[in-house]
Amino acid sequence: MSAPNPPTPAWGLYERLLPAEIEAIHAAHPVAYLPWGALEYHGKHAAVGLDGLKAHGLCSALARTAGGLVLPPVYVAANTIKTAPDLAHKRHSLDFTENTLRVLAREHFAQLADERFRVVFTLCGHVGQPHYDIIKDEAAQFNATSTATRIIATSETDLIDKSIVIVNHAALGEVSFLMHTAPDCVDLTRLPVDRVPSLEQDAVWGPDPRESSAEKGAAYTAAFVAGAAKLINTTLASL
Ligand SMILES: [Zn+2]
Repeated sequence: MSAPNPPTPAWGLYERLLPAEIEAIHAAHPVAYLPWGALEYHGKHAAVGLDGLKAHGLCSALARTAGGLVLPPVYVAANTIKTAPDLAHKRHSLDFTENTLRVLAREHFAQLADERFRVVFTLCGHVGQPHYDIIKDEAAQFNATSTATRIIATSETDLIDKSIVIVNHAALGEVSFLMHTAPDCVDLTRLPVDRVPSLEQDAVWGPDPRESSAEKGAAYTAAFVAGAAKLINTTLASL
């Protein structure tokens, strides 16, 4: 007789669950996933919600492996491309103040700790600065005073080897993630055919997005899940 398969980790989408379902998953895996996105122009070829869609897709894939509850994305961001002084991409972004971001981060962490999650895995799909550092700073401030709940604040490229995917905006990495997780939110035919896309003209920063594919997105996701699951397990063991 072959060995039985290990039980599938219990996981779910928080906002879609009944209290008893939440309690069952929480009892097995007291881990919350908080995808943090933005509504930000990502060129003519990608949806403005890319960062949140990407973070939510990655958190869902991670929860399938590590167990726990995935919250809906927070779509409030500061330091979007709208405010970049040298760029003319002023439409299709909602840009909030850094103070609003701080308050939202602090209150999400406090409320999720109040719900007795042991680990809150905060995945920043938007890494504009100081937006990203603000969320990490609020996490560090929370962790300095809490022993029962640990906040992890990170981004996908911090958990994947740079030989696989690097930090980018609307380029090969982000667009491949999106093609994997939400293919209807990408249209590669809107990219230029006769020149390499640029930051100034196309809001593309990083490797050529015309090479993007769902298959690459799946490979990047697998690399992310491996790194992130290890981090969550190490963190849970340290508590
Ligand atoms: Zn992005």
